[in-house]
Amino acid sequence: MKALVLKEYKRFAYEDVPVPEPGPEEVLIAVKACGICGSDVHGMDGSTGRRRPPIIMGHEAAGIISRVGSRVTAWAAGDRVTFDSTIYCGHCEFCRRGLINLCDHRRVLGVSCEDYRQNGAFAEFVAVPQHILYRLPEGLPFEHAALVEPFAIALHAVRRGPPALNDAVVVIGAGMIGLALTQALSRTGCGQLIVADVAPERLALAAKLGATHLINSAIEDSSIAIEQLTDGLGTDRAFEAVGLPATVDLALRCVRKGGAVTLVGNVAPKVEFPLQVAVTRELTICGSCASAGEYPACLDMLARGALNAAPLISAAAPLAEGAAWFDRLYRKEPGLLKVVLQP
Ligand SMILES: [Zn+2]
Ligand SMILES: [Zn+2]
Repeated sequence: MKALVLKEYKRFAYEDVPVPEPGPEEVLIAVKACGICGSDVHGMDGSTGRRRPPIIMGHEAAGIISRVGSRVTAWAAGDRVTFDSTIYCGHCEFCRRGLINLCDHRRVLGVSCEDYRQNGAFAEFVAVPQHILYRLPEGLPFEHAALVEPFAIALHAVRRGPPALNDAVVVIGAGMIGLALTQALSRTGCGQLIVADVAPERLALAAKLGATHLINSAIEDSSIAIEQLTDGLGTDRAFEAVGLPATVDLALRCVRKGGAVTLVGNVAPKVEFPLQVAVTRELTICGSCASAGEYPACLDMLARGALNAAPLISAAAPLAEGAAWFDRLYRKEPGLLKVVLQP
């Protein structure tokens, strides 16, 4: 089969590799669409240590089952499916509590790090365990289904800290996750839905996807703007979808006393923490990682049009052109959001 292989940092080859052999509890999927994730782009230069070559990346995918392992009974060739980006073990203490995103033995598809190497879906075929599969609703295109993972991350974050009716909410960062969050939050009945980012084209998209107020942090002071929009109180909730020192700081400072901050972005491993802001204003701070059971809800919402993948897809292109698209994303070409590759 053809696959897009990261041969060494920043160098791809589109080449022939053996078709993976599905184990007894696995299915072989003919990949129809696979999105390029920010973590793939960040990882391909070695900076995260989680894409050690050689590796076939790709964890946001959908396709058709072509073959099932000997012990698979609930799935059959021809089924249209997507799958969780995380392979959880199902047996550890956290899996048993339903916290599958926190599994002690989690492996992410398309990741190679110190502990494991798990080839992903930038290939004609990928083998995945049956317990992470989800059936696609009828009529949901593969390209849209491939985006279920970022939407599931957004839904999980909202469920970790759902706004009350008419709450003022700010989303910091209008990248893929921030825009998915904006859509999900717009369905929760919150009042003001403020989105802050530095890229005008992303803010324009946020406005189309449910934001009621936009802040361009490159040209205005976000804290002051939020203060003005909320009569000096601050927002009830902040969702941080960047993960840099300045944006985490903003999230903590822009909520009202007694407000809540949900941290999703984590580009920087460490940030300076405004301790007194958090303590004396009695903030509730919660982290949100990946997703844990939100896929079916997301697929249903995508199929119903309650969430909309199309505006987030900048391009759908053949897998053979993958290296060039990675390069354009790596160079941060303005206006490029999600690129979906088709084997
Ligand atoms: Zn991803
Ligand atoms: Zn587990």
